Amino acid sequence: MIINMSEQATKEEINHVVERVREAGYQAHITQGEMRTIVAAVGSGGRRHELEALAAAAGVADVVAISDPFKLVSRQAMPRRTVVDVGGVRIGDGSLVVIAGPCSVESREQLFSTAKAIKAAGAQLLRGGAYKPRTSPYDFQGLGVEALHLLREVQQELGLPVVTEVMSTEDVDVICEHVDMLQVGARNMQNFALLRRLAVIEKPILLKRGPSASVKEWLLAAEYLLSGGNRNVVLCERGIKTFETETRNTLDLASVALAREMTHLPVIVDPSHGTGRRSLIAPLSRAAAALGADGLLVEVHPCPERALSDGPQSLDFDGFRHMMNQLAEPMRPLNICAGAA
Ligand code: PEP
Ligand code: MN
Repeated sequence: MIINMSEQATKEEINHVVERVREAGYQAHITQGEMRTIVAAVGSGGRRHELEALAAAAGVADVVAISDPFKLVSRQAMPRRTVVDVGGVRIGDGSLVVIAGPCSVESREQLFSTAKAIKAAGAQLLRGGAYKPRTSPYDFQGLGVEALHLLREVQQELGLPVVTEVMSTEDVDVICEHVDMLQVGARNMQNFALLRRLAVIEKPILLKRGPSASVKEWLLAAEYLLSGGNRNVVLCERGIKTFETETRNTLDLASVALAREMTHLPVIVDPSHGTGRRSLIAPLSRAAAALGADGLLVEVHPCPERALSDGPQSLDFDGFRHMMNQLAEPMRPLNICAGAA
């Protein structure tokens, strides 16, 4: 349930409502809007009629039920869009933020040259994998802590905030010491122990959609983070499994538009994993920008043919520059007859 406080509600009235929500057996999540405060009551097993009765409490404008199962993530709970700050870069403020970098951090030279190239081309965040979720145990698994040190060094030297994937609750503390944002990979979208642990950290989370997850399951995964206390969540569509075999995954752009309707959280698009083909990254990035995505996540490598992971879908530096230039190009003229009824 959402308890909308009136614009004139006093601090005492808001505190009283929060206390009553807790007494009724629910968690109270307070959002301070520009004009008014919203108290969201979430949880199970509480006494709902006591919440409904708060419509009569001083300072309350109205009490409304949230019909979505993902209560705090729902647009119903928060009319304004959330803006997530990642080391000073704002995601969700209406601009298109480009996050780029190698699938895996492989060496100092590889990471620094990539970071410089993507920054020069206009990317605002660097992403590089230190712990890699690989389908085969015989494939490169990432440099681990060594990669975290390199990420922090590059962040300090170039002033580019950094993102890396976390696969296990055991690694959360050490990763938090080194990076600005933690990525939950597609395979871990429903790793509930990991989500619960990430809900109580200060750093923002990039939550990828699972390859077989519905939009509702994706948003419920985000609900674990918000209900545990971490509101700084960015969603990332990275393609889902379909019958198509010509692309690595099927990039589900409809779900990006849908997620932006259903939630106040920013939604970004990963055309690299979404297609598995470098030739499709530029056109799908333009499509994502056109439909209102809040950002892009693109894999870039100095020499994709030598990449230890995801070479076929990585752009080289020239390719990335070209993609960024294409993003800035206006749409082709639309042949629509002006004034046609
Ligand atoms: C990645 O970002 O390199 C990655 C492994 O992505 P996903 O979890 O989407 O497969
Ligand atoms: Mn990858």
